[in-house]
Amino acid sequence: MPTIFSKIIAREIPAQIVYQDEQVTAFKDISPQAPTHILIVPNVEIPTVNDVQPEQEQMLGHLFTVARQIAAEHGIAESGYRLIINCKEDGGQEVFHLHMHLLGGRRLGPMLAKRE
Ligand code: 5GP
Repeated sequence: MPTIFSKIIAREIPAQIVYQDEQVTAFKDISPQAPTHILIVPNVEIPTVNDVQPEQEQMLGHLFTVARQIAAEHGIAESGYRLIINCKEDGGQEVFHLHMHLLGGRRLGPMLAKRE
């Protein structure tokens, strides 16, 4: 069963794709939490960070160079940004197709919500 992100990557359902190559696809988050909120996703379906394999190191490193490029294109390289990868329930992962959030364009505040 393909994930919603695989369908976006295959252009079967619409999304605002900002970058795509043979390894990764980047598109705007449907529910942006900051002025810039882009998801950078491996084209191959990896459910979570727990499923990452050693032979995927190069491709996963590519997520960072794509993030750097998109941050520059969106004018947030100098002001700064945050990259987030959530893993499973405690990490807050909702879509089980590994992805990197690129967030910026405002002060993002503390890394984590404070404990109650
Ligand atoms: P997670 O919580 O798994 O780290 O992040 C999943 C992200 O995917 C959320 O920020 C959510 O808004 C985004 N998202 C979920 N479904 C869609 C969709 O159909 N299209 C787009 N563009 N983003 C989605």
